[in-house]
Amino acid sequence: MSHPAAVRPAHPHGIGSVRPDGWAYQRSPMIVYWELTNACGLACRHCRATAMPDPAPGELSTAQAIALLDDILGFAGPGEALPHVVMTGGDPLRRGDLPELIAAATARGIGVSLAPAVTPLLTRERIFWMKEVGIQAISLSLDGSTAAYHDGVRMVPGTFDATLEALDIAAEAGLPVQVNTLVTATTAADLPAIFDLLSGHTLQQWSLFFLISIGRGSELTELSPGDAERVLAWAQGVGREASFRVKTTEAMHYRRLGAAALLRAGKTKEQVEAHPMSRAFGIRDGNGIVFVSNLGDVTPSGFLPLSVGNVKERSLVELYRHDPLMRSLRDPDQFKGRCGVCEFHDWCGGSRARAYAWTGDPLESDPLCPYTPKPVS
Ligand code: SF4
Repeated sequence: MSHPAAVRPAHPHGIGSVRPDGWAYQRSPMIVYWELTNACGLACRHCRATAMPDPAPGELSTAQAIALLDDILGFAGPGEALPHVVMTGGDPLRRGDLPELIAAATARGIGVSLAPAVTPLLTRERIFWMKEVGIQAISLSLDGSTAAYHDGVRMVPGTFDATLEALDIAAEAGLPVQVNTLVTATTAADLPAIFDLLSGHTLQQWSLFFLISIGRGSELTELSPGDAERVLAWAQGVGREASFRVKTTEAMHYRRLGAAALLRAGKTKEQVEAHPMSRAFGIRDGNGIVFVSNLGDVTPSGFLPLSVGNVKERSLVELYRHDPLMRSLRDPDQFKGRCGVCEFHDWCGGSRARAYAWTGDPLESDPLCPYTPKPVS
């Protein structure tokens, strides 16, 4: 299938997206999201992990977890970089061997970030400890501009104040923070107030997570495509002024808006690919990211619940590189409907997780994107 040459990048490393700086996603993800446990003291209304008070039977043992870190080293061939590992949950602070796992990762040269839940376990001392042991960044969730909004999602009173306090302690410790905010039909109107609130604090980036109706999130309502487009355009605007980077999760067409604006302004494809925004180009479920569950199951992302195997039995490197589903998710020419013919699909590609949630087919079009691709010449 042909595409406008002005937009479509080449595949110098073969089929599969390649970041403009040359990172070949068919060889190695940029980020391995590793759910250390699904134990958590919170019970958030949208939780992908459907977190529970106690660890599930069958979670990876310490030895199995360290074997996974050894396996991850196999992603880096000569001249290739290692993926970054985001230790998530549940609440990763509920794993008693967390210090051992962080030490094992950093000793192997693997960069680690942490996604702790905001519970009494996230103390000032622990945040400074994270910095000390080499955690490169943490993420915190903030889903409302007031305690009433936020605690209504997190279901535990006091979490709003504790989150802002943790944000400020992390800044004091010199630990970069990504704030994650859930975007749904009911929370979208609060985004400008959340932006104003965050502008008074120090953070590295703000990620707007566009709800996918899975796990507990199926009780909430996604935005309509038109409303999502308006939120994305608004985010582009405030992102230009913000003291922190504004990005999206599972709304890949945010890149289409940014790239289209640059092309309209007369930039060439090469200039767009040299723009800082191109760092995110191509990243989507199974392309540049991969997810390992607390039980060791490997899925293209935490929001696309199709297991391609288990790290207790198979190599993560092999599963990521060679599983047929993973390979198809890296080849936009296999996508169907509008995403299949879209002139932006190498840079965007849509949410494969949302396509699956809505249609049962991860290669279908992303139903959140209202864009009509230009006719292919
Ligand atoms: S149609 Fe698909 S590939 Fe094109 S911008 Fe929308 S989500 Fe992205």
